[in-house]
Amino acid sequence: MKTNFIYSILLLLIVQTSFVNVSFAQQKKESKNETTYLFNDSHFHLTNYVQEGTDIHVYLNDIMGNKIGRSTLFGLPLQQQWSYRVTEDFAPTYYLDTDAHLYYYSFTDAMIAMAYLSLDNIDQQRIDPMITGFNVTDMYATEHIKRVLLTFPGVFSGIGEFSIHKEFVSSKIEGDVASFYDPALDRILDFAAEAGLIAIVHNDIDNPYPKAGKPNYLTGMQDLIKRHPATTIIWAHLGLGRVIKPIQDMGGLFEKMLQDPEYTNLYFDLSWDETAKWLDSSPESLGRTAEIIKKYPDRFLFGTDNVAPQEQETQLRVYHLYDRLWEALGPEITQKVSITNYERLFDKARLDVRAWEKANAK
Ligand SMILES: [Zn+2]
Repeated sequence: MKTNFIYSILLLLIVQTSFVNVSFAQQKKESKNETTYLFNDSHFHLTNYVQEGTDIHVYLNDIMGNKIGRSTLFGLPLQQQWSYRVTEDFAPTYYLDTDAHLYYYSFTDAMIAMAYLSLDNIDQQRIDPMITGFNVTDMYATEHIKRVLLTFPGVFSGIGEFSIHKEFVSSKIEGDVASFYDPALDRILDFAAEAGLIAIVHNDIDNPYPKAGKPNYLTGMQDLIKRHPATTIIWAHLGLGRVIKPIQDMGGLFEKMLQDPEYTNLYFDLSWDETAKWLDSSPESLGRTAEIIKKYPDRFLFGTDNVAPQEQETQLRVYHLYDRLWEALGPEITQKVSITNYERLFDKARLDVRAWEKANAK
């Protein structure tokens, strides 16, 4: 009888302790629950033009914290040369700091992979690294991408952000200038389709300060997307930039693409504070943007496009620049653009790329 009593007390203690453990674990999980997250970041640079940036653990714990659920992760494919002949002791950290060239810096992919691999398993689930360190004019770029996947299996979900036309940058890169009609670019996007890699493409829709009537970069981009119907392409920042203005009737042109079955592989990211500036430049522009997103709510994603941030506030600031747009879209569509579209696209990419790696492992 006495033994039974002691046994019951012990059992009760065990049950209670494990209950406490379960509820603690649950609490911990709930505090990280994605429903409390503001957004997933579909466009994020960990490092800058001189390959320096944010410590990955600081990014996860202090910057993403409990506000950003998941995030893409890429560096910058380009390194700004410090030419002593040009700037002497001044060490440029941005492409506008100097006339010296930029060059493709492939080691960025190893740095991003190593940063990702230093995370624990739970944190890794929140991150989608991207391969960027390839030259888009080189037929061998595809070999680089394959080599990165097979050297770091289980890591990458996509390629990019890489640039075709980018103000002040494209012409500063050593070697050939990128072109929509370069077979090397076709080869890259064909391989992305084969491996299931998402492609984030920066392509300005026009030149800075364009002359009236001059051809812009829309048709070339359209041709490129149509040539690669099996590649998921995210057109970064809607083709806009600091000095890249929306072209005439851009809303109408984009709407035509969104309803055209030839572009079902095309998505847009609303990223960068510079993009918010154009979208929110007038009530008409904001209303038109909201109208198009409401019609095609599955085709837009949100990202910060911040480079090497040092605090969470920097990330949240970009999200809140779009507050008037979120308000116009309402909570359901905002949830799609800022959270669930990301999950759908990147969950699929993870599965597809892992399958490709498994099938091609040596
Ligand atoms: Zn970017």
